Amino acid sequence: MVEADQKPHAIFVAYPLQGHVIPSVHLAIKLASKGFIITFINTHSIHHQTTKAQANADQDIFTAVRQSGLDIRYTTVSDGLPVEFDRSLNHDQFMAALLHVFSAHVEEAVAKIVRSSEVPPVSCLIADTFFVWPSKVAKKFGLKYISYWTEAALVFSLYYHVDLLRVNGHFGCHDSREDKIDYIPGVRSIDPKDMTSYLQESDTSVCHQIIFTSFKDVRGADFVLCNTIQELEPETVSALQAKMPFYAVGPIFPTGFTKSTVATSLWPESDCTSWLNTKPHGSVLYVSFGSYAHVTKNDLIEIAHGLSLSKVNFVWVLRPDIVSSDDEDPLPVGFKEEIHDRAMIIPWCCQIQVLTHQAIGGFLTHCGWNSILESLWCEVPLMCFPLLTDQFTNRRLVVDDWKIGD
Ligand code: UDP
Repeated sequence: MVEADQKPHAIFVAYPLQGHVIPSVHLAIKLASKGFIITFINTHSIHHQTTKAQANADQDIFTAVRQSGLDIRYTTVSDGLPVEFDRSLNHDQFMAALLHVFSAHVEEAVAKIVRSSEVPPVSCLIADTFFVWPSKVAKKFGLKYISYWTEAALVFSLYYHVDLLRVNGHFGCHDSREDKIDYIPGVRSIDPKDMTSYLQESDTSVCHQIIFTSFKDVRGADFVLCNTIQELEPETVSALQAKMPFYAVGPIFPTGFTKSTVATSLWPESDCTSWLNTKPHGSVLYVSFGSYAHVTKNDLIEIAHGLSLSKVNFVWVLRPDIVSSDDEDPLPVGFKEEIHDRAMIIPWCCQIQVLTHQAIGGFLTHCGWNSILESLWCEVPLMCFPLLTDQFTNRRLVVDDWKIGD
């Protein structure tokens, strides 16, 4: 048995968005099961929303896994904004806080842990690649920096080679080129429309600043761990491995691909199991646009009409802020009566539980990376409706490269 003070101790900072927290929690659990001590840091806001969403909220989300013998400690820090601040409605302000303010709070928390005589010595910092500060913070405290990329290797490679895109006029030019991009190492030629939304726009937003700064910072990482699968992106992964210690460690899922014992959902989960049990094998379309993207009211109404006319059974995850947190009931009048008992409309669910149900026959998705990995795992075919960020690039992988969706 390895004594606690001989085990490697990593501080793990999760990016405060649902699609990043989930794979971060599960990577932390995997590392702890391999003998790491983990101190996991969430923001106050993510912690508050996660615990509020649970019926029997435990203040420490890792209590159950600790009871099973894993050494995961838990703490929270401010992202710079008040806990109740509506980050969905004020997205740019939220991102600006992450860009400019969050690092000061993290640095204070890391200093406290590193200097404490009551915890085992810390050897590394694991942090999301999108943070702009990890290599500097790691250096300051003499820690190894392990960067965690929770998206496709292809997306990493596009951001990593943004200077190449600029030089060739595919990014940051007034008259962007529309011809294919065929000069990025390990990337089969790609249409400009399949790049991430940020690479298709001019470079002025706070998100652009985050991407440029974080992709400078990641050059100081000791390792990059990517939540992808080597066999799915072999050329891109190999090309990145030629440049840096880059590891495809995915897919990172909850142990056994069952409902996680650690609470990670930011909204209360509705249970669809009894309803799904009443539906024939492969007869239900699952519809979800993830945790972050918004759908315009017009698109939402079109989708509603399409679902209504299709006559198929469906489960539709409609987050309260799907159009905007200012418009909590965006569905067409009479829609719910029209679809009657062939649909369940819910604010949130345990998605992996739904995808593994035998009644599910397809997934209409915004192409979030976690959703794609989960759907692949469950062999559920995809209908793609990308909305922003990496979702356009993920659609290209699903439809053009892997041919598992439309
Ligand atoms: N998810 C969930 N319940 C839902 C919708 C989504 O548990 O009702 C989970 C889903 O399983 C995935 C994550 O939330 O792990 C969403 O991540 P993804 O990368 O697909 O999209 P994002 O939310 O980041 O746009």
